[in-house]
Amino acid sequence: MEDCLFCKIAAGELATEFIYSDDQVVVFKDINPQAPVHLLIVPRRHIKDLNNIVETDAELIGHIYQIAAKLAAEYDIADSGYRLVSNCGADGGQSVFHIHFHLLGGRELQWPPG
Ligand code: C5P
Repeated sequence: MEDCLFCKIAAGELATEFIYSDDQVVVFKDINPQAPVHLLIVPRRHIKDLNNIVETDAELIGHIYQIAAKLAAEYDIADSGYRLVSNCGADGGQSVFHIHFHLLGGRELQWPPG
């Protein structure tokens, strides 16, 4: 999609260093980390937000959760715990309107998140 930041990142147009990538997703470090580990898991295909997930995205979403668990193990936060979150819309705190999943860990996270 034109003028979408995460589409450009996923396409490799912005020289972002990928922690992980495959044919469905890219993963990179958040530019403004909120925890010692803060990665963004971003599908290559443009989906605006959680409201726009359809039934045929089920495999992709499952894949994202598997990648998150794999990365949590790699970053040594699987046992201590972590959070996988996708903000949706204005009240949800979404600022980039290409769906993405924050993988946060490496410190004790607060609840509710605020
Ligand atoms: O959930 P939300 O849409 O607010 O998350 C967007 C995230 O993308 C933010 O955590 C922000 O720091 C990150 N970001 C980034 N690189 C950019 C622009 C935004 O990592 N160039």
